[in-house]
Amino acid sequence: MIGLIAATAAGRRAAVDLAESLGDCVLYEEGSVSASLERAWEECAQLVCFLAAGAVVRLVAPLLEDKRDDPGVVCVDEGRRFAVALLGGHGGGANALAATVGAALGAVPVVTTATDATGVPGLDTLGWHTEGEVAAVSRALLDGEPVRLAADAVYPLPALPANVRADAPAGAPAIVISDRLDAPAAAPGSGAAVVLRPRSLVVGVGASRGAPAEEVLGLVEAALAGAGLSRHSVNCLATVDAKAEEPGLLEAARALGVELVAYPAERLAAVAVPNPSEAPLAAVGTPSVAEAAALAGGGELLVPKRKSAPEGRAAMATVAIVRRPPRGRLALVGLGPGARDLLTPRAREELRRASVVVGLDQYVDQIRDLLRPGTRIEQTGLGAEEARALSAVHLAEQGHAVALIGSGDAGVYAMASPALAGAGPEIDVVGVPGVTAALAASSLLGAPLGHDHVSISLSDLHTPWEVIERRVRAAAEADLVVTFYNPRSRGRGWQLPKALGLLAEHREPSTPVGVAHAVSRPDEWHTLTTLAGLDVTTVDMTTVVVVGNTATREIAGRMVTPRGYRWQAVGERSEEKA
Ligand code: SAH
Repeated sequence: MIGLIAATAAGRRAAVDLAESLGDCVLYEEGSVSASLERAWEECAQLVCFLAAGAVVRLVAPLLEDKRDDPGVVCVDEGRRFAVALLGGHGGGANALAATVGAALGAVPVVTTATDATGVPGLDTLGWHTEGEVAAVSRALLDGEPVRLAADAVYPLPALPANVRADAPAGAPAIVISDRLDAPAAAPGSGAAVVLRPRSLVVGVGASRGAPAEEVLGLVEAALAGAGLSRHSVNCLATVDAKAEEPGLLEAARALGVELVAYPAERLAAVAVPNPSEAPLAAVGTPSVAEAAALAGGGELLVPKRKSAPEGRAAMATVAIVRRPPRGRLALVGLGPGARDLLTPRAREELRRASVVVGLDQYVDQIRDLLRPGTRIEQTGLGAEEARALSAVHLAEQGHAVALIGSGDAGVYAMASPALAGAGPEIDVVGVPGVTAALAASSLLGAPLGHDHVSISLSDLHTPWEVIERRVRAAAEADLVVTFYNPRSRGRGWQLPKALGLLAEHREPSTPVGVAHAVSRPDEWHTLTTLAGLDVTTVDMTTVVVVGNTATREIAGRMVTPRGYRWQAVGERSEEKA
């Protein structure tokens, strides 16, 4: 819940507007501003104060306790011009809240946390438990001092700056990524260190009906400690379907702050385990619960099945621990047609989420300034599409966070399909849609795609011309609006006139045709002409050609395809008037 504090009428109006737009907000009006703030401080995870920054600093000063627990605080000025992340930028989420409030009220978000300002990821923003000297190591990170990275595997982290290296000198501040309690940072002679606990461990649990939560939790903790593993690295508890509602398991999962995942017995029965037994087979239909559930998603068995040892009665819980290898991440990111404001915020975020960016050099140039310092760039020239796609997959398979970029949408005549054709289930794949050339051109031309339409690439480099021709004929017969991609290059001159000729067998010479070149780029131009009037020599490889269907009209200089019969009648009437 977000607490809102306001002192003036304008502030209250802004608070009401914000609450309407965000929901889950409460306006505190306790009589005095300081009383309101004190109460909101107690009750809310985040506060937005419609007060001067100085006033807020004085009011919250006596309330400050701990960076981890204090609420995130954003203040907004009387004129709604700025949303300032004042306190709890990362831990309290104030930096993100400033952006949200800014978007809701039309204010500029002001963020002063060093890591956000310079593009270095905050060590406490990765979603992992952190231990140790975050502030000291972050400072070294930002000051460009050597920082040692000691990770027990390759994790899909965002790019870290170049001063972070595995071979930094021994006494250098360190970032350690490990699920092990004896992680190397603890070694004597090391400098300041932050230990990040990746969510690498799956704890399989079995329980008899009514097993007490303390017995389950005690067993899990003893098994972790016995193997020298951090409880903060537990990803989930895993069990069999029949135990999904077992109160002791649910309570233990809650205490560890993780989910209880349940698998069907048949699935567990199919997992090879070192210690199967008769008892669970009879009770729930699988010879192993703890080991099989821990191993069901793959990984290495670190702690084979062990039982609880309660005093004076039979054990009611079993546990086994598996370490899963990190899953690499492949983001397929469409950059849009060119202009920066047609790149989606999500695409921007994925670019900053990656440590490796793979793409054609001209696309890399388009977004280079958005990448975090230290981002590895794998760029290639035209013609190496398949190799480029596969190298992105390969890097993700090694555990990296990879962004494979393409213009428009990365899945449309682009890299996503060759990449996914070569990718297995062991990586996470995230698609970020982009504004395609067809859509960008359509907006420029008017509304040519108002009814059924198709895109056809005229490049016969990878597709035999007979196939292309068959599709153009089918589109002609079906009266579809057609957007031609890759319409004409220096070496491919005859295909576009040929395709237009096929459409002309079913459409009038006066059918509107839109030509859009380099849409949203500095050398953009577009024209509206007709099937008979198109000068194909104006068309090149940075162009799309949109051919209307038999209902498409030019209305007031714009290309318009009616949505249906009724609308068409209206359109024709207005044309008659003109
Ligand atoms: N993935 C891209 C298409 C790549 S195929 C998308 O979704 O848009 C390359 C073809 O796209 C070019 O030959 C051209 O026909 C078209 N194209 C790409 N960007 C364009 C732009 N800004 N303006 C006009 N056409 C463009």
